[in-house]
Amino acid sequence: MPERIQLKDADQIAMMREAGLVVARGLAAMSAAVAPGVSTLDLDAVGREVLADAGATPSFLGYHGFPAVVCTSVNDRVVHGIPSADEKLAEGDLISIDFGAIVEGWHGDSAVTVAVGEVSEDATRVSEVCRASMWDGLAAARSGGRLTDISHAVETSVRSAGRFGIVANYGGHGIGSEMHMAPHILNYGRAGKGPRLLPGMALAIEPMVTLGSRATQELDDGWTVSTVDGSWAAHWEHTVAILDDGPWVLTAVDGGRAELEARGVTLSASAA
Ligand code: MG
Ligand code: MG
Repeated sequence: MPERIQLKDADQIAMMREAGLVVARGLAAMSAAVAPGVSTLDLDAVGREVLADAGATPSFLGYHGFPAVVCTSVNDRVVHGIPSADEKLAEGDLISIDFGAIVEGWHGDSAVTVAVGEVSEDATRVSEVCRASMWDGLAAARSGGRLTDISHAVETSVRSAGRFGIVANYGGHGIGSEMHMAPHILNYGRAGKGPRLLPGMALAIEPMVTLGSRATQELDDGWTVSTVDGSWAAHWEHTVAILDDGPWVLTAVDGGRAELEARGVTLSASAA
């Protein structure tokens, strides 16, 4: 029996929206702080400040012993990088920043990929392709559909953009009273399979896309995941609530309105 998917009521989703807005604020502040010479630990400090100002609890700090409030993954690092004072950003780097917050016991989880100054065309492209695939996945997160509709939308989006690696060892997840809950969400696969998507579900959709192979490895720190072939990677993530009248992207300031409407999907009226 697959694990049950948690269903949230309107009040619980409203708390997740509060958490989502804290995450959005943190990612905006950390993105703005990205510059050559800034260390990844400096970004962690910015994230901590946003959490403290909001009275929110970090999702990541202490999670299976993770030592920071944010994951910072530079260039060939895909996800789960540990911020460090020794790791200074340089012009041309590409950094993924993954951040989570808890408000009243409810989680928000989101990630962005940010260019450090001027980056190569390839670096820009892999981030754009990854970001677009995330939004195509979010647009497929609709009541009455099936879980792998999301997986298929992400894969189709990446494949239509050219030759990229879609990381297979990691994926999206259910989210709510815990950061990582059932179901696991693959970033590839055929549509129309898996659990039916129901109002009250909340999912974190997070494609990881590389300029080379999809193969990844965990580094000796026990956390950082890098590509095996050294190719650079991008990672984007949003938390979405599925409501009977459409999705609500809880970690997007506009609730996802612009990107969903561009894909012909109407945002839930709850987001207004
Ligand atoms: Mg995340
Ligand atoms: Mg996540």
